[in-house]
Amino acid sequence: MSLTKADTLTPTIKKKARPLTAPLPKGSTIGILGSGQLGQMLAQAAKKLGYKTHIYSPERDTPAGLVADRETVADYLDLKALAAFAEQVDVVTYEFENVPADTAAYLSSSTTLYPNANVLAIAQDRWTEKTFLQDIGERTAPCAKVDSQDDLERAVRKMGLPAVLKTRRFGYDGKGQIMLRGDSDVEGAFEQLGGVAAILEGFVNFSREISVVAARSAEGEIACFDPAENIHEDHILARSIAPARIPETLLERAKETATNIMIQLQYVGVIGVELFETDAGGLVVNEIAPRVHNSGHWTQDACAASQFEQHIRAICRLPLADPSRHSDAVMVNLIGEAVRPFETATAKSDEFIHLYGKRQARPGRKMGHVNRIYPLGFIARHPDRL
Ligand code: AMP
Repeated sequence: MSLTKADTLTPTIKKKARPLTAPLPKGSTIGILGSGQLGQMLAQAAKKLGYKTHIYSPERDTPAGLVADRETVADYLDLKALAAFAEQVDVVTYEFENVPADTAAYLSSSTTLYPNANVLAIAQDRWTEKTFLQDIGERTAPCAKVDSQDDLERAVRKMGLPAVLKTRRFGYDGKGQIMLRGDSDVEGAFEQLGGVAAILEGFVNFSREISVVAARSAEGEIACFDPAENIHEDHILARSIAPARIPETLLERAKETATNIMIQLQYVGVIGVELFETDAGGLVVNEIAPRVHNSGHWTQDACAASQFEQHIRAICRLPLADPSRHSDAVMVNLIGEAVRPFETATAKSDEFIHLYGKRQARPGRKMGHVNRIYPLGFIARHPDRL
């Protein structure tokens, strides 16, 4: 069954949305939309804090399903399943940003959804996201809306090349984008991208990609983990180095950016903010992810509380944990067959293995990660010894 406008306006749920006003009592149930490794690690953190979890996703045999207390396998627009889910949970969150707007609206009307539906609407559309960021005073790449090949050619004339053509929606890990280096790349590029709503972004000459994983509670308390430096291979995150090897002033500025974004969005939960350190030494925001983030996995073994615990704390109205590091860290993603040696390895005192329980190690598939821990200050003292 799918949602219609009328369904959305008159949900068949008896429960009425009521914002949480006190810490969620222990033993309550947290609903999580999505069932991948992020949902799995959220469920593990919830359990540690004394909560049950109920996963909702269309997939079977999932990483989150391995550890959740309950699981609903249904389409995100299955109204009956959504209504039953909403009846059984005390707060709802999500592990991915492409939750359909109707689903978010429906759940918001019957239960507490964190982060709020407006955040999702902004993060799902690159154009809305860029204009939001610019409106709140953050620097982004120059960009233009592209709805046709003509729009694209006009934007290229204005912006110049190189530039990146990106779909407005559903892009991830470099999918849904085309790099335009010369005029021959521009020819037919709009059709090549699928003829869908897109944006053209000016190319940012960057020396590093960094990210800030941060949290805001409903009371407005804010806690930023130290920014990490991210190294991609084949458009997929390969390693995160925390702290990023950038000047202290930029580390602080990146945290201020994340703080500004969370305040403006009235955000509740953990957010990932991806930025470029430009060749000129400034910061440009690339995108925001309204959820726990792959580049924040290092917090599991280098901080008192991980990003997952911090997210559960924020959405359950518990005080946020101290985000400071007790160690430096490098997180290495185990992609495809790279997981094999770690399936039977034992942890070392400075190397922690996290496996997601996926059966098939397909190329490009994130199977697990390893956190390597270094003494505090090691990375700044030995930036080339990692
Ligand atoms: P995204 O899907 O927007 O995160 O982009 C994927 C990757 O493409 C980023 O991690 C960057 O390495 C690269 N990229 C995206 N946008 C730009 C840009 N405007 N300028 C330079 N590189 C970019």
